[in-house]
Amino acid sequence: MNKITKIIGAAVAGVVLVGAVATAVVWSVPSVQDRLMARVIEGRIASNDTQALLNDGGLHVLLCGTGSPMPDPTRANACAAVIAGGHIVIIDTGPGSWKKFAQSRLPASAIDAVLLTHLHSDHIGDLGEFGVQTWIGGRTKPLSVFGPTALPEPTEAADANGHQFGTKGTEDVVAGMTLAYDADAAYRILHHGADYLLPDGAMLQGHNIATPQKNELVTVYDKDGLKISAFLVDHMPVQPAYGFRVEYKGRVAVISGDTAKVESIELFSKDADLLVHEALNNEMVQLITNALNKAGGERLGKMAHDTLDYHVSPVDAAMIARDANVKLLVFTHIVPPLPTALSEHMFMRGVAEVRGAGDTKLGHDGMLISMPAGSDKIVVSDLK
Ligand SMILES: [Zn+2]
Ligand SMILES: [Zn+2]
Repeated sequence: MNKITKIIGAAVAGVVLVGAVATAVVWSVPSVQDRLMARVIEGRIASNDTQALLNDGGLHVLLCGTGSPMPDPTRANACAAVIAGGHIVIIDTGPGSWKKFAQSRLPASAIDAVLLTHLHSDHIGDLGEFGVQTWIGGRTKPLSVFGPTALPEPTEAADANGHQFGTKGTEDVVAGMTLAYDADAAYRILHHGADYLLPDGAMLQGHNIATPQKNELVTVYDKDGLKISAFLVDHMPVQPAYGFRVEYKGRVAVISGDTAKVESIELFSKDADLLVHEALNNEMVQLITNALNKAGGERLGKMAHDTLDYHVSPVDAAMIARDANVKLLVFTHIVPPLPTALSEHMFMRGVAEVRGAGDTKLGHDGMLISMPAGSDKIVVSDLK
């Protein structure tokens, strides 16, 4: 061992020793732990970099849920937050999505509307949480929730007491959700005082979207230059079911909702900056169906198989994006879960071959897609 090697060895040993002593001090002295923790908390609370997104002139889409009803530890269910012009509009509130939104540290009180593509449980399960958390965050008026009407024809099936299913639209569902949180609202008002938690903020106000004709846009939200319109998609037997077209200062983003391949998506995504499209990989779901059937789980196997006809494959979504000349395609509502790099690779099989010049990304929770004003740039980053 030469002299230089010995000096370096001694220096490394010194650094390791200092590190070990520092760790031992932090681990064993509560007052040091408290000071460190206070510094971390203060730093996080003082940081307002995400709040700047609200008024930077750009259109932003935060994915706050990119999963499906299949259990997936890395993805909440359907949710996208549109951020522009000082407003945040939430599109779908799937189970687990509130926490994903909250991790972004965007101001909850800036959420002034929720739009629902349809009333499947994986799109509405966290509506109550969005209601109560935005109220705690400072909202003082009822939260407006816009979504579809009831089915055109209710089902003929009824339960033993004669209850018929399918007569409820968004107004009824939202009224029911407000009722489900009534006791919670009372507890909080009693605990914190009505001066801090204004009772009006505890309420959700549902609105049924006036069902448009096929291939027609109906404006649902229009404030300070941020305009969001609904159009019909094909999620039969779920009807009406919507996709949403978002416009702000010349930038355009489209959220597909749940749908089979349908012409309205291509029509309203023409030359869009961003298309956030649902995607189900048929071959991979078929593998799951086969395995369930083989293991004697035919009931779940049939249900998995039934999902094939009302969703879109990644390759079909890529064709839609190519034909509509969309700049960036992002997959969401990912079916099945993709726990490994190999499964992600399989999910994307065939996409690049049909996509053409445009870009495609596999969405994940916390993905932020930013479209600055006065530019054709699209910046993809993470808010976690
Ligand atoms: Zn869904
Ligand atoms: Zn659905």
